[in-house]
Amino acid sequence: MKYIIEVTDLKTVFGDKIVHEGLNLKIKEGEIYGIVGPSGSGKTTLIREMLMLQEIDGGTIKVLGYNLSGISYKHAQELRQQWGVLFQAGALFSSLNIRENIALPLIEYSDLPRKLIDEIVDFKLSIVGLKSSDASLFPSQLSGGMKKKASLARALAMDPKLLFLDEPTSGLDPISARDFDALILKLRDILKLTVVMVSHDLQSIYDTINTLAVIDNKKIIYDGSVNNISTIDNEFIKTFFKGYI
Ligand code: ADP
Ligand code: MG
Repeated sequence: MKYIIEVTDLKTVFGDKIVHEGLNLKIKEGEIYGIVGPSGSGKTTLIREMLMLQEIDGGTIKVLGYNLSGISYKHAQELRQQWGVLFQAGALFSSLNIRENIALPLIEYSDLPRKLIDEIVDFKLSIVGLKSSDASLFPSQLSGGMKKKASLARALAMDPKLLFLDEPTSGLDPISARDFDALILKLRDILKLTVVMVSHDLQSIYDTINTLAVIDNKKIIYDGSVNNISTIDNEFIKTFFKGYI
């Protein structure tokens, strides 16, 4: 079994607050790995640590075979080109139209000619279900669902192996949210992605994820099939899955 991410004995401390302690997890190639947990339990921080945006205070994180602690600048740059990220806020540049937003990573990280970059942008637009004519629109002209798709197209610009999503369906209406779930499943299959997704959207969790991880009390207290979750005696799980299990 090939693991794309391995977190061992992770510790994270902010001031006198311990956020993670003795946290372990392993994410398999090709799976959609969903993380749930109470607000403030350190889900976003965990993702930021996997992305080298946040220092850790103990343990190890390995991503695509690289140990992130003491990683060289060159290897860090290589890694950053192998993942795509979609944070909650979406974070499209409001002054750039959709084409320029999606082209940005390609302009920054590749030496490809502009004509080829435009062809790649058109392809990314089509795989997320946007039209070529949407490319000239600015973020403020898009619906919530379209913004998420455009952000996803940008996250996929560099053909990443690994995709990180932090609460991707939050703020979307139910139809757009289910549309987004279907898109994630399709892209995982077509692009052979491994997906790490934080979510509090129960429908999304049931419809998309392969492995469910529950973070509570500083560690992963469960990881496995969402169908076995009822066997776990935990207050957060009971409340979160109320009516479902
Ligand atoms: P979640 O995403 O599960 O809601 P977060 O990872 O955002 O939780 O935050 C976990 C805890 O760490 C919270 O108590 C938060 O206030 C704290 N925290 C996160 N980032 C910082 C930071 N840069 N400095 C201080 N505290 C932080
Ligand atoms: Mg969060």
